[in-house]
Amino acid sequence: MAILGIDLGTTNSLVGTVDSGFPILLANQEGQRSIPSAVHLPQGDGPAEVGITALRQRALAPERVVTSVKRLMGKRLSEVDPTRHAFPLTADRDGFVRIAIPHRGQESLSPEEISALILKELKTTAETAMGHSVEQAVITVPAYFNDAQRQATKRAGTLAGLAVDRIVNEPTAAALAFGLHRSKERTKIAVYDLGGGTFDISVLEIRDGVFQVLATNGDTFLGGDDIDDVLAQHLWQRFRPNHPPLAAQSAAIQIKFRQASEAAKIALSEQSEYIVRLPFVEGEEHFEHHITREDLEKLALPIIERTRPLCLRALHDAQLQEEQLDEVLLVGGSTRMPLVRRFVTDLFGREANTSQHPDETVAMGATVQSGILSGSLRNMVLLDVTPLSLGIESFGGLMNVIIPRNTTIPAKAGEMFTNAVPDQQSMLVRVLQGEREMARDNWELGKIEVPFDPGPKGSARIGVQFHIDENGILEVLTRNTKTGKDLLLEIQNAAVDVDDHRVEAMISESVDHAFDDMNERVFTEARLKSEELLPAVDQALNLVGDQLAEEERASILDAAARVRRALDGSDAQALKTANNALDEATQELAALLMQKAMEDAS
Ligand code: ADP
Ligand code: MG
Repeated sequence: MAILGIDLGTTNSLVGTVDSGFPILLANQEGQRSIPSAVHLPQGDGPAEVGITALRQRALAPERVVTSVKRLMGKRLSEVDPTRHAFPLTADRDGFVRIAIPHRGQESLSPEEISALILKELKTTAETAMGHSVEQAVITVPAYFNDAQRQATKRAGTLAGLAVDRIVNEPTAAALAFGLHRSKERTKIAVYDLGGGTFDISVLEIRDGVFQVLATNGDTFLGGDDIDDVLAQHLWQRFRPNHPPLAAQSAAIQIKFRQASEAAKIALSEQSEYIVRLPFVEGEEHFEHHITREDLEKLALPIIERTRPLCLRALHDAQLQEEQLDEVLLVGGSTRMPLVRRFVTDLFGREANTSQHPDETVAMGATVQSGILSGSLRNMVLLDVTPLSLGIESFGGLMNVIIPRNTTIPAKAGEMFTNAVPDQQSMLVRVLQGEREMARDNWELGKIEVPFDPGPKGSARIGVQFHIDENGILEVLTRNTKTGKDLLLEIQNAAVDVDDHRVEAMISESVDHAFDDMNERVFTEARLKSEELLPAVDQALNLVGDQLAEEERASILDAAARVRRALDGSDAQALKTANNALDEATQELAALLMQKAMEDAS
């Protein structure tokens, strides 16, 4: 059974399949393998237009042409910047984005419905080329897509009549395409993917036909679009000096300047100068401007520079130095810019591999994956990793990591928990994602209340198991091992309302706060110990204290007072030292207590 491989890009989308053992990309009737991810919803009852025809409508009816809908997938209205879109947005009852373009009796459409129109177009292209219908697909997503965004992508597939067999991270797909042409040696590679709307960097190891992602990083708000924006603003200033910025102009003007900028940018990848021409840009007025590659590079460099720390962090996470990489792979249309190629060469200290067509690598990889699934390509296994740590809140408000960041998926891990206080009726399992030591600084993905029979402290037995499937979707299972009762936490889409660029922020914050966080964790752990120790010491003194020498008794009281004083402060080390001193001072007391217990027993 044939399965399609689909790169559902922010800017462009492509489809492929495996034909007689070879992955190939499929062209539509106009001979295009790549179509713009644009959808035009015409007024009245006309059918939606997809691709280049939709994009052409942008100058005429910008408010009815949907582009970059991928940025809106699985997003709440509060998480997006509506000024970035030329079409109106609204929210559904749960706060999720809808595109407010009335069409064929519907007041608005969800991002999934728009994506489904693009997928349907690709499906039709494939079916026409292959001569039969296809119902299954592999779709790629940026490495940093969260659960809500992956689910939304799957739903889009279903709406288009495609069962989504696998969601694959884009840089992983790129590496797959690359691996096809490699022998079985052990190779470490970095995949630098700069597209229209997203940037991904991944470090992978390929060994005996097995791909393993060692680390990933990225920014889903960084790409060629940003370069178009700064160039457009630059050109606008030349056209209308001392006017309000381009962003304050009409949608039609903005689109004209942005299209001209993209065309100039693309031309300047091949040639060193270019003349931007905008006839009748405003009324009778023409605009002409000579621009050099150097001018463009000055504007683009700060944007490209933003990829540097992300690359360095990925290398650091993979515990590799630049020189340990065997290969650096360039992916995404924006890596056609000579500036980007020089930048990457400089950053990694080597010439990047450009043997693959950078705009097609991801689709090729999706196709390879579809071939593995359908059995038409063999001898390749695919491993992927978690971008952020997953865990639950434990006693005292600490983050208890169950699946660490950069764990190979699919993954399954679990731990046993018990009640920290006597006669507790239930335990609240809060599922968290993030790198911070304290639960409150991480993101809550969902929670589940696990009931148990009240009993003494430590009597409950609750197993918590995390399972991440090959699509990166998380399931949390809790089991009361006494009753055998299981509870399954479905991570609701609505629960994962984290902003993508906060993922990178999370990682850098965890580095910035590492010292304070660690101090707070150590303090909390020490505090929990003090809170056990102090009442136990009081109780022991009541029971057998009279058998102690006065001096011994005084030193215990003194050590206990020191612990209480340290508890009022925030110095973790002081509290730990005080705890240890109290432990030390109560050796004899503990021995007496033990003796009494044995006597009582006999
Ligand atoms: P996405 O994965 O986000 O859909 P692509 O990989 O298709 O994006 O890349 C699209 C981006 O690449 C756009 O910003 C486009 O302007 C840019 N691009 C395409 N060709 C070139 C080129 N020759 N020079 C510079 N940029 C290019
Ligand atoms: Mg892409």
